[in-house]
Amino acid sequence: MSLVVQKFGGTSVGDVEKIKNVARRVAASKKRIDHVVVVVSALGDTTDRLLDLAGRVSASPPEREMDMLLSTGEQVSMALLAMALEELGLDAVSMTGQQVEILTDTGHTKAKIRHVGADRVIQELRKGRVVVVAGFQGVTSEGEITTLGRGGSDTTAVALAAALHADCCEIYTDVDGVFTADPRLVADARKLARISFHEMLEMAVTGARVLQSRSVEYARNYNVPLVVRSSFHEGEGTWIVSEDEIMEKAIVSAVTHDFDEAKVTVMGVPDRPGVAAGLFGSLAEANVNVDMIIQNVSEKARTDISFTVSKSDLDKVRTVAGRLADELGAAGTDFDSEIAKVSLIGAGMRTHPGIAAGMFRTLADNDINIEMISTSPIKISCVVRRADGENAVRALHEHFHLEVETE
Ligand code: ASP
Ligand code: MG
Repeated sequence: MSLVVQKFGGTSVGDVEKIKNVARRVAASKKRIDHVVVVVSALGDTTDRLLDLAGRVSASPPEREMDMLLSTGEQVSMALLAMALEELGLDAVSMTGQQVEILTDTGHTKAKIRHVGADRVIQELRKGRVVVVAGFQGVTSEGEITTLGRGGSDTTAVALAAALHADCCEIYTDVDGVFTADPRLVADARKLARISFHEMLEMAVTGARVLQSRSVEYARNYNVPLVVRSSFHEGEGTWIVSEDEIMEKAIVSAVTHDFDEAKVTVMGVPDRPGVAAGLFGSLAEANVNVDMIIQNVSEKARTDISFTVSKSDLDKVRTVAGRLADELGAAGTDFDSEIAKVSLIGAGMRTHPGIAAGMFRTLADNDINIEMISTSPIKISCVVRRADGENAVRALHEHFHLEVETE
């Protein structure tokens, strides 16, 4: 018995014609696959429009109500797609996150999936139906509706694929696959045939928008074969696979960028145990994801701590950091939204020294100043001025010859 989970993103279901197109594609799949589960995102820019509406009603809407609002987007697309499938003569049924039993924690607007109870989905599949599931949404054990963070439909799809032991999870989107850099910035960016889970995860957390990072983590943990491909044509797409399936590891696989982060500095905090724990503990409690962190030792037992957060969390961070700065007697706080984070990703970096030096040299040769650096075994990220962001990406792509195939 074959079983595939297919996820269609917002642009793939952007209007009625596109929904019908997706229905035709699903119908074609159903001819060769025994069981098809489809996960949909909200139509086009629905989620952005809902966020905008909320913002016009309230400066800080309660997160529970945000989830009540945002989860409506996917409910529209799931019902319309199920209708379109019925129209083509297929037996289809749509289901909300609650009906599927996508149980999450209580972290409204970025909830994490705790458990997927797919019994009802299985029952429906056994009746020969295509099951269309609303992405991005779940429910707490108290019955409260949650959402999984921007791009969360990817995670819904992978989590379902894992729970159903699907043969694979196909992510259909408006791009042809995963590229060596954003093709909108780099003209000769190349589509990758394959990339490892670990590299894809680093790409996702450093700004590649094609997959939500949590979906990649989930796929890696549960070994779900994952493919990203175009919803508009039959192209091969990019497979995300475990590392030992890739024989010839590229030293550098991709350059990513994130222009949506801001840098926060808390200046002149006492250099003693517990300060960082207090600051980042409070940020975690406020459900803020902190990315890069740098602590500079300065004079007189005081230190500056800088870190980056998503611009969308900046208001929360202002409150938390401001309060802590007061409590600690810090010299002040600084918030800088004019930054860009550029990153190099590559599994081969582990065994090839000198990649970081090459990155810093390339930036220097282009007169780009580096403000923060962070590394992992397969990633180097630099924060630069926002105005240098595009140039940095292009220069690095060129320097490391990413347009040339290595595998
Ligand atoms: N509609 C949600 C968003 O725009 C979830 C998704 O598309 O995956 O973030
Ligand atoms: Mg998406």
